[in-house]
Amino acid sequence: MEVRCANCGARIPLKRDDALLRCPFCDSTLYLDRAHTFVRLLLPPLLTEAQARRRFAEELNRREIPAQEVLEAKGLLLPFWGRRGGESARAEAAFAPLPAALVEYELPSAGATVSPDEPPPGFARLPCSENSAARWEKEQGLGAGLVLYEAPVFRIAYGATQKPFEAYVDAISGAVFMAESPSPMTDAISRGSMKALLVLFLIFALEAMVIPNAALSLAAAVITGVAAFPVLKKRIVQPPANARIAGHGSVQ
Ligand SMILES: [Zn+2]
Repeated sequence: MEVRCANCGARIPLKRDDALLRCPFCDSTLYLDRAHTFVRLLLPPLLTEAQARRRFAEELNRREIPAQEVLEAKGLLLPFWGRRGGESARAEAAFAPLPAALVEYELPSAGATVSPDEPPPGFARLPCSENSAARWEKEQGLGAGLVLYEAPVFRIAYGATQKPFEAYVDAISGAVFMAESPSPMTDAISRGSMKALLVLFLIFALEAMVIPNAALSLAAAVITGVAAFPVLKKRIVQPPANARIAGHGSVQ
């Protein structure tokens, strides 16, 4: 059996039914989906696992979620279909199921290189699910321009051991993707909003002391309250982004 190289068109004899192969003529790395080959390109990781863990901790802090125990941080190369040179354009996951956390994921606009035979240290390849190329080609009419990108992420499992949450850190941009996550500091009022309320109360008390006239004092309190409202609203009412999207599916 032989297949045609998606890059140079040469016929490559197949020794065994291997999904990942290298063209002996042009040295491209290829992905074999049935009898069709696709050029396979790596988006090289820039972040170490330690940096990814730090990015994750920063993201929790930004969302006012209490510090979490990281149960596992795993480097993965996720396969995505895309067009060559269009690394930042829309891409389709070549694996299933797509975790809810990665619904918003986009391929980073970094220079892609020929995929090495062995994945970069600390990263494991996630296998492609068959037929995704056919589906993508049919929907998009992209035809032969389709390339299989290997995108590096760190999958972080955290929280309770029985039912851990998961987050993904883009190992190129450092962007953090989360679906379900633990509640912020407290459900109603975070540390930040407690401080804001305390400051507001002190201002009220000060106004009451400085302005002896009860009506004037009340008016001052109302004005202060109205002025402070946008700050309080932002701190108390607004939930952190993405915190309420239900999660399903997981990359193992
Ligand atoms: Zn070739």
